[in-house]
Amino acid sequence: MNKILYDEMSGPEVKQAVKEGRVPLIPVGSTEQHGPHLPTMTDTFLCFEVCKRAAEKVPEEALVLPPVSYGYNEHHLDFPATIHIDFKPWIDFVLCICKSLAHHGFRRILIVNGHGSNTALAEIAARRATLETDAICASLTYLNLGWEKVKGLLEGECGHAGELETSMMLYLKPELVDMSKARRDWNYPRSRYIRWGWSPEFESFAVSGGTVQFMDWMSRISNTGVLGDPTKATREKGKRILEIFVDELANFINEFRRREIKERKDYH
Ligand SMILES: [Zn+2]
Repeated sequence: MNKILYDEMSGPEVKQAVKEGRVPLIPVGSTEQHGPHLPTMTDTFLCFEVCKRAAEKVPEEALVLPPVSYGYNEHHLDFPATIHIDFKPWIDFVLCICKSLAHHGFRRILIVNGHGSNTALAEIAARRATLETDAICASLTYLNLGWEKVKGLLEGECGHAGELETSMMLYLKPELVDMSKARRDWNYPRSRYIRWGWSPEFESFAVSGGTVQFMDWMSRISNTGVLGDPTKATREKGKRILEIFVDELANFINEFRRREIKERKDYH
């Protein structure tokens, strides 16, 4: 089987991956407080796992870079543990990775995000990579993949460190989950226009986004650093949710890899 981890490959193996037209996945996460029951690795670890498992499904089409383990999350700093990277260096850093990949000949690059507040920044990095290199680069937040299927598995309101992330961690890293400390927390008013996560009321989901883009200080909307109800999490849900994300990501890789890159035209 093809190696799928970039940092396990030699230079000539990477050159061969370029020749095969494989899509490099750049997992981007965070080192961030996830309430009293989950570890700070949660976003980075889950994102990397989703990427790895998707690439294992289509090993001739993808490879996975070492993850970017820090994110944009100043709004979490009222709680202990979060490491925040300002938006400018974060975008520049991720863009440098994209530009290096394009320099070596990769033509279709995918930033896979696992932390809500990176979403807008990952999009800018991807757009800039497309405009400033010969490659095309897209970004996605894996938590938005296959939402119609995922929502059927969730019971309550779900956001940061809630039912979804806790379920996935129970499946993949149970030794780092302390369910005795998991508590429901959802301390902000409902709005038709401003959404974070999922609520049964609106049957919709958007990570860091609804019709109106707005993120408040976490300490204004949560007492514990949690949004949602992690007590509803189970290992079985985590397994099924993970499978949905992995399948959807593998499907997108397959489509993106075949996307034609047309010549630009100057219409002046
Ligand atoms: Zn998270």
